[in-house]
Amino acid sequence: MTFTFVTLFENLIAPYFEDSILKRSLDAKIIEINFENPRDYTRNKHHKVDDYQAGGGAGLLMFTQPLFDVLRHIKQQDPQAHIVFPVPAGKPFKQIDAKRLSKKEHIVFVSGRYEGIDERVIEVFGDELFSIGDYVLTGGELPSLVMCDAISRNIEGVLGNVDSLMEESFEEGLLEAPSFGKPKKYEDYEIPSEFLKGNHAKISTLKNEMSILKTQYFRPDLFCRKNIKH
Ligand code: SAM
Repeated sequence: MTFTFVTLFENLIAPYFEDSILKRSLDAKIIEINFENPRDYTRNKHHKVDDYQAGGGAGLLMFTQPLFDVLRHIKQQDPQAHIVFPVPAGKPFKQIDAKRLSKKEHIVFVSGRYEGIDERVIEVFGDELFSIGDYVLTGGELPSLVMCDAISRNIEGVLGNVDSLMEESFEEGLLEAPSFGKPKKYEDYEIPSEFLKGNHAKISTLKNEMSILKTQYFRPDLFCRKNIKH
């Protein structure tokens, strides 16, 4: 899978791939990353990448021409490239999207800056628009990384243990059951005794019940959608 980041600030993204799982995936050539800087596509003398908004309005927008040119270039190179715009107005990015997008061959994330991107760029090139939450960030680099990370761990070979994907939060529309490590008593705190008895069927039932209760408590919205009967 290839990820292309269209960004004015490559240095905000690149270091994330210098360690841990995504570095190993890069080294193993399971994923590949590219960067495209709209500044390299400017046609004005001063390589300006911001511009005033038509009709006025607070703040600047990313300059339209370099974005058209860089995205056209990417599409010419790879007509199948799937172009994603992180924007506050996008649909909420979910685990189900991460799984679906992990089957693509090439995803392009276009990071907005300033007050955002000319709507025409988004309409012409956007295959999907995602928001990572109801708040406004200074740029699209973090959302792009968040989505890239979530997508990558669903690509075969990225996680050492594929089983860890199965019991995770959101898999069955529920949050994952609480996890406990060792020792069985740490300071004054003990783990549930059932976890120590070695009856795996019972542990599995208990985990399922805890998962339901945890979802009900922390995410009543998910719980209602799941329509669980007690
Ligand atoms: N004026 C825009 C608005 O009110 O919707 C906000 C622009 S924001 C300061 C600059 C860029 O950050 C956006 O173009 C987008 O790429 C990114 N961004 C900010 N918040 C985001 C969010 N919650 N989800 C996804 N992208 C976001």
